[in-house]
Amino acid sequence: MFDSNEALLARVEELQKELEESKQYIATLEKAKRELEQKIRSLSEPSGEPIPITEIEETLKRFVRKTAEILYAEKCVFMLFDKESGELVATKPAYGLTDEEIKAFRVRATQGVSGEVFRTGKPIIIHDALNDERTYKDNVALLHVRNGVCVPLISEKRDEEGRVIESTTIGVLHVFNQRYGNIFTEEDVRLLQRYAKNATAVILNAQIYREFVAEKEDLEHIIESVYAGLLMVNKDGRITQMNASARSMFGAQGKDVLGKMYYEVIDEPKVKDILVQCLTENTEIASEISLRLDESERIYQVQTALVKGEEQQPIGVVAIFNDITEIRNVERMKTAFVSTVSHELRTPLTSIKGFISTLLMDEEGYYDRDTQREFYTIIDTECDRLTRLISDLLNVSRIEAGRALELNLKPVNLPNLIEKVVTVQKSYTNKHTFKIELDDLPEITADEDKVDQILTNLTNNAIKYSPKGGQITITGTSKDGMVTISVADQGMGIPKDHLPKVFERFHRVDNRDTREVGGTGIGLYLVKHLVEAHGGKIWVESELGKGSTFTFTLPITPPSEEEEETKEKEAVA
Ligand code: ADP
Repeated sequence: MFDSNEALLARVEELQKELEESKQYIATLEKAKRELEQKIRSLSEPSGEPIPITEIEETLKRFVRKTAEILYAEKCVFMLFDKESGELVATKPAYGLTDEEIKAFRVRATQGVSGEVFRTGKPIIIHDALNDERTYKDNVALLHVRNGVCVPLISEKRDEEGRVIESTTIGVLHVFNQRYGNIFTEEDVRLLQRYAKNATAVILNAQIYREFVAEKEDLEHIIESVYAGLLMVNKDGRITQMNASARSMFGAQGKDVLGKMYYEVIDEPKVKDILVQCLTENTEIASEISLRLDESERIYQVQTALVKGEEQQPIGVVAIFNDITEIRNVERMKTAFVSTVSHELRTPLTSIKGFISTLLMDEEGYYDRDTQREFYTIIDTECDRLTRLISDLLNVSRIEAGRALELNLKPVNLPNLIEKVVTVQKSYTNKHTFKIELDDLPEITADEDKVDQILTNLTNNAIKYSPKGGQITITGTSKDGMVTISVADQGMGIPKDHLPKVFERFHRVDNRDTREVGGTGIGLYLVKHLVEAHGGKIWVESELGKGSTFTFTLPITPPSEEEEETKEKEAVA
């Protein structure tokens, strides 16, 4: 093969130099691999700073360039197996290929030289790509391939004695087109195989790294958007996580809090105490704290947990803050409700009992028939009051249990009903005047008893909450298939911050004026449900000290009835 001994010696020297260079190169790759592994490990720790992906890209970029240089090739590219598509796909970075070429370079794992090398795990040398029947011609044309070497990228797992226990082919590595018109040799194959072995580890690590970074980002997005406040500090007390809720709880919106000591960011003494205790005693704490936020008091349930490292050593503390203000409010309202309901039940009962005892004791017939009749009327009214209260309570529990209020739909003459309700309510007061202003209201389809309950409740509230008297005005209009009824009083009004809440169950405005007035806080809650069960809406406008106007709408025909009517009409047509 060689003309002379000198030529042979020169070639041997050249080869030795190449070998030396390769060895150094492999050592660099191995170092890069070790560094990557180290960085990936550090990522799993909460304080781990992600290394920029560009660093790994750089390592691989150097790899493809160096490989091409050492093998005197024009191009070097690796293809990875994509399980989902079953294809071998060229992956960046590559040497000597444009971005478009990399994107277009893919082949089914059953096709071409790439497919064969991937399946058999054996390298292939191509001397004449165009005429070699194993090559996939589209790609030969795409990359202008004349010749090349393709080796598998095999990932091997070894046991402690260095025996291979698992081996997976993750893709293939190509070099194309010998420069200077030379051909690729078996020696090139061996060299490329050695490079491929080291490159596989780097590529795998890069893949794991990318997945890690993506997972970490996903996790950060989840943590950031959870409703509960989340705070994480490492064992030195530095903040490693603080989501949006926690930042707003501690007034740290828009501030760069990561890496700061927790006491530089959080002023709240109770929270600081909890963190100190967790960090110094390695304990987990469940507690309740209240914080003043935007002028209002919020109650939080705090639960801490120790964050442990790989060897179960504590590496920090995570604290979760759950806003339980609403739960506590409902609990408080429920307690208040039980006492008001007992009171509301006892008042009519005391009166009933009183009048009955009086009548029973009157053996001599001291009271004349008219007086007796008056007593019986009072007893009758108080029994009605009790019945109403009990039926309200039953309805609340029905709504709470998620059962719909059943409607007994019939034609209802609203002007007559309003007249009737006002007549009854008038008898309870001599301080108020009543004014009814109705347009020509159409007959509506509704549950008469329930509309009666709505009107009675609103008119009764209008009387109750204007203890100094005044005018109560009931207006009614009709438009676009809906009737709109308002009940306006000139009473104490409702403070602005209570306006959105008066329709909530058990909600009562608690101040000096309202305390004198009996009530359970379920009237408007029921009214709202009754209106909505008909397909209507209810709202309130009010000015403190001047009066309130409650307005509700009802459809002339409830939605479900309307649907049935259209269906009937369609059937007839
Ligand atoms: P209650 O049994 O307490 O009257 P409601 O559900 O009917 O319960 O009303 C809830 C709260 O809304 C009342 O406690 C009262 O504070 C307020 N409220 C209702 N109607 C009026 C009104 N016309 N004027 C002023 N406040 C009212």
